[in-house]
Amino acid sequence: MVQTVDVLVVGAGIVGASCAYVLTRAGVRVTVVDRGGVASGTTGAGEGNILVSDKEPGPELELALRSNELWRELDEECGGFEWEPKGGLVVAETPEVLDALTAFADTQRRHTRPAGADPGRPENVPPASVQVAAVPVAAENLRGFEPHLADGLAGGVHYPQDAQVQPMLAAARLLKASGARLVRTAVERFLVSGDRVTGVRTGQGDLYADAVVNAAGTWAGSFPQAPLPIRPRKGFILVTQPFAVPPVRHKVYTAAYVTNVASDAEGLETSGVIESTRAGTVLIGASRQRVGYDTAIDYPVLAKLARQAIGLFPVLGDRQVMRAYAGLRPYSPDHLPVIGPDHRLGNLFHACGHEGAGIGLAPATAEMVAAQLTGRPPRVDPAPFAPGRFA
Ligand SMILES: Cc1cc2nc3c(=O)[nH]c(=O)nc-3n(C[C@H](O)[C@H](O)[C@H](O)COP(=O)(O)OP(=O)(O)OC[C@H]3O[C@@H](n4cnc5c(N)ncnc54)[C@H](O)[C@@H]3O)c2cc1C
Repeated sequence: MVQTVDVLVVGAGIVGASCAYVLTRAGVRVTVVDRGGVASGTTGAGEGNILVSDKEPGPELELALRSNELWRELDEECGGFEWEPKGGLVVAETPEVLDALTAFADTQRRHTRPAGADPGRPENVPPASVQVAAVPVAAENLRGFEPHLADGLAGGVHYPQDAQVQPMLAAARLLKASGARLVRTAVERFLVSGDRVTGVRTGQGDLYADAVVNAAGTWAGSFPQAPLPIRPRKGFILVTQPFAVPPVRHKVYTAAYVTNVASDAEGLETSGVIESTRAGTVLIGASRQRVGYDTAIDYPVLAKLARQAIGLFPVLGDRQVMRAYAGLRPYSPDHLPVIGPDHRLGNLFHACGHEGAGIGLAPATAEMVAAQLTGRPPRVDPAPFAPGRFA
């Protein structure tokens, strides 16, 4: 098989599918290559929260705010992926944690995303700015948001912008709507001529392209010609049997989750993270561990997650767990995704390393890569995400 297309995307997870969608909308011919098929990597092994609530002020929050806007547009353009703009509720168990949570929300609220270059905006119209909405919730008002919450919580913060999708459906929908061809085979290496990538070598032969986008998720760092420090960070999810009326209305999590997300620890970290799905099940997370590519089930970790969830929502204690699974988040050492042109090889672009936020950040990532590939001004400053920062 010898073929030439404009752009080859390696990986049919949510990031690769989003890249395919945005690029084909820009008139680019795209082929996507994945060894396992759509959502066969981490996209099929996590949850689908689109969060601004857990992002500290800075580049990732700016990307998250832009992505939040884009997810709303994508739902209108090619929905059918269980888009739920349900909002998030972060709760604090103690007054001390509530103080820290409220202070964190204050810093988020003060952060304004500069709208960046907007190719369609007339010069006399100032760029729209976007801010985080974060509303403190007193302890006595928590049950107005979540009637089944446990007693004794100190308070919380409501984030109306947080939303949810079904990530596997989202990847499949975006890929289908893109019209891009999907080739199911493993990429062995990049094809390189001089200092430029010309395509990829696969189990089914060589594929040539004007540019290659590396959206291989947790495995994106392992191509020998352009290594990146992406590592797996394991996480478990428990899925309950379905409820006729799910008892959790928002994405609900404890303030400890924000600290866990930002931490570099290799050992086990857990915090209560709970949401219902449209199917009536409740998803319970979240654990974080850096234990290589091992996805074995660890019952003590599952038991801890279940205990934390019942601590927040006692009603879950009566419900059986239907299944549990582990996924490998694509961890990058500075907790920022790796987006943009490779610093060693021309024609190679990276879109990977989103750790626990790849579903949320995928559309803005794709928009950034497409802008860089087609020479348009990006909507969010790409500099903090540049792959060369690890050189
Ligand atoms: C427990 C858990 C909960 C999570 N919850 C959330 C959440 O609520 N919100 C959120 O935003 N994120 C969440 N995440 C993180 C999110 O799932 C990931 O950030 C996201 O799925 C990464 O998408 P991706 O497309 O980069 O990678 P992937 O989905 O892993 O896609 C990469 C693809 O590349 C393919 N591939 C790799 N190497 C090759 C090769 N050599 N040749 C061919 N194909 C190859 C793989 O088969 C795979 O399909 C969670 C993750 C976990 C584990």
